[in-house]
Amino acid sequence: MRLRVVSMSKKKQNKPHGHYCHVCGQHKANEKFSGKGHAAHICKSCSSLSPAERAAMITVRKIEDMAFRQLNEAEIKWLRKHLNDPRPEIRESALSVHRHKFPHYERNADKKGLIIHSLELYIHADVWDEYGDEIPVHARIFANRDGALRLIDYSLPENDQEKAVTIPKHIAQKLLKAFIHELNTPFWDTDLSDSEAGSSDPFLDILPEYYDFDADLEDESDCDSGKAPNEKEPVCYLKLELNAGKIKEITFYNQLHEEPQSMFWTLMDFFNPIELDEE
Ligand SMILES: [Zn+2]
Repeated sequence: MRLRVVSMSKKKQNKPHGHYCHVCGQHKANEKFSGKGHAAHICKSCSSLSPAERAAMITVRKIEDMAFRQLNEAEIKWLRKHLNDPRPEIRESALSVHRHKFPHYERNADKKGLIIHSLELYIHADVWDEYGDEIPVHARIFANRDGALRLIDYSLPENDQEKAVTIPKHIAQKLLKAFIHELNTPFWDTDLSDSEAGSSDPFLDILPEYYDFDADLEDESDCDSGKAPNEKEPVCYLKLELNAGKIKEITFYNQLHEEPQSMFWTLMDFFNPIELDEE
């Protein structure tokens, strides 16, 4: 798609199929233009709009035309300026085009200055380890920026479930920072799907063409499909305490994605320090 250049100079002759309206961007038959509208390239319906409405339409079209072509620096600046436009229709189209062109821009802006003060991770599911084995896990881990880590392993006998370790503050802060920047933890609720379809294999959720739909249908009778989501046991629950005491809770009932599993093993390493072989 190319940005159309509006020329207010001479009308092009020999254009039998009407006119291009530079406000709505549509090519319309001659009778859709008034005498004056022909010259100004504004169709009758657009000429009944107020100048402000017309200006807004032209801006929205200009923004939408930017979606699928290369932008120069001035155009990027112009587009970003409209992310905060007071007119909602312009702001929304600028946001959607900008998100399409620069998918990481907003995310990076959102991450900037974001801090996890503490977290609580609960997992009740089979978790893949680095060797490709599925390990049944039923545990809750707490961690904070001061370096206090606490594990409750529900699979152990009741008086042996809790374990606490303290790690250096700077390690804890590095760890929680990595959860933001590498695992995108505060954005799991929007980034990671929790649809039931993918529950058979958490690693295939982005590749729906690999779903075994027949298997899903066969399974339907004996799975808990009749339950409302809130009656289901979560497979994963995460609570984050972010900047300014903001609490974020994210719950997965169906899918345990790679990211929470990675967080789980990373945290578990502190409870079970690996003896390094000196090979
Ligand atoms: Zn028009």
